[in-house]
This record gives sequence, C-alpha cells and structure tokens, in this order.
Amino acid sequence: MTLAGLGKEIASCRLCPRLVEWRERVAREKKAAHRDETYWGRPVPGFGDPEAKVLLLGLAPAAHGANRTGRYFTGDRSGDFLFAALHRTGFSNSPVSRTKDDGVSLDNLWISAAVRCAPPDNKPTPAERDNCLPFAARELALLPVEVIVCLGAFAWDAALRLHHVRPKPKFGHGAEYQAPSGPALLGSYHPSQQNTFTGVLKPEMLDAVLLRARESTADAPTALPATGHGDHTPATPIQ
Ligand code: SF4
Repeated sequence: MTLAGLGKEIASCRLCPRLVEWRERVAREKKAAHRDETYWGRPVPGFGDPEAKVLLLGLAPAAHGANRTGRYFTGDRSGDFLFAALHRTGFSNSPVSRTKDDGVSLDNLWISAAVRCAPPDNKPTPAERDNCLPFAARELALLPVEVIVCLGAFAWDAALRLHHVRPKPKFGHGAEYQAPSGPALLGSYHPSQQNTFTGVLKPEMLDAVLLRARESTADAPTALPATGHGDHTPATPIQ
C-alpha cells in the first residue's frame, strides 16, 4: 500500500452512517459564502511530505473548511492561523492555504486527523473515533514520523490510543510524551477560532511547539529558522 492508495481508500470510506449523512448534507446545503462552490463532502486524506518526520494530527475536517476544500486546514480561519505558523517555522512554502491546487507544499511535515469526516459540532463519538483511527495507524506505518504534534486534547488522546498508552499522560500546550516505542508526542492547543480569537493560543505559542517538533527529530539542523516571535531557545531532545 502507498500513501496515495491509502488516501483513495480513505476518501471512499462510508463506515460511519452519522458522519456520512452529516458531511454530505453540509456539502449539499453549503454556507452562503460558498454557495457557488462544489464541496468535497467526503473523508479527507492526509497530505504533505512523504518523507515527513513530523506529523500534525488534528481532530477532524471542519464542515466548511476541509469538508469543502478536501484538504486539512485549507480555506478557513484555523487554517489561516496554522499556515502562518507553518510558514514562519519553515514547514510550509506558503503562509496561506486556500484550495487544494494552490501550490502549497509541506517540508518534513504531514498533516492528518484522528477522524476523517466532518462531525456535527466537531464532536465525533467514541465509536466513530475507533472506526477511523486505523487509518492513522496505517498512515504512520507508511511515513518515517518521529514526532506527532497533537492539536488539541482529542488528537492527544487519539495518538495515545494508537500507541496503547495507559495510564494516559495529561494533555496541555507544550506537553511532551515519549512512548516506549513509536513517535514522541507534543501537545498544542488547537488553532480553532475559539482559542485564537480569545488569545488562549497565540502565534508565538504555536511557533514554539512547531520548532520543538523540528528540533526533536533525529536529523534536525542545529540552527533554527528565525521566526520573529520571541525566544525559541533550543530545548533538550524529547526523552
Ligand atoms: Fe470512514 Fe473515518 Fe469517515 Fe468513519 S470517520 S466514515 S471511518 S473515514
């Protein structure tokens, strides 16, 4: 199986009836601002650099973001905030991500989600999460990932489940965990508007986690890219 083959399999999945109904209904009814567009309306495969050592794991596609454009963090405010940070920290060639064919290219980064279909109220059920997590496991098996950046508590929990970690270490912004085997985990608050508009997640906070991820990979350069956001003193490798 290749990443492209897995992506096709993901995009045609219909395992969760509630999410299939929701993602397709949102795609039919649309948001007024996008009424002339054709929504993706399907599960969203991961995308990025097939040699990535860093995986960014989100919760699920946004109803009018990835469920519309077919690419994670593309075409919505969360994506604007995230891609500005990915560009500052050298993971993306572009500070904006608007459509699938906008020329965005990721370096050393793969973006994915715990659940591949947009859920009502951004809340998948435990059964839906469990249905979908095998896709993340299979994706990880095809990538040389050393660090997973978990955007939010749901993604943190999902990554711990992937590695069968008990008891589960607590999620927090900047939390770190190295399982006995498998990639290290880094926690970050999710770049949802709820967090970014209220200042719970500030640009420099997200930059710090992304730089920490980069410097934690085995072949990290000794010099970190300049970000213009405060002190990013290199920390010790994740233990
Ligand atoms: Fe399939 Fe995952 Fe979507 Fe469920 S959430 S229908 S398992 S792609």
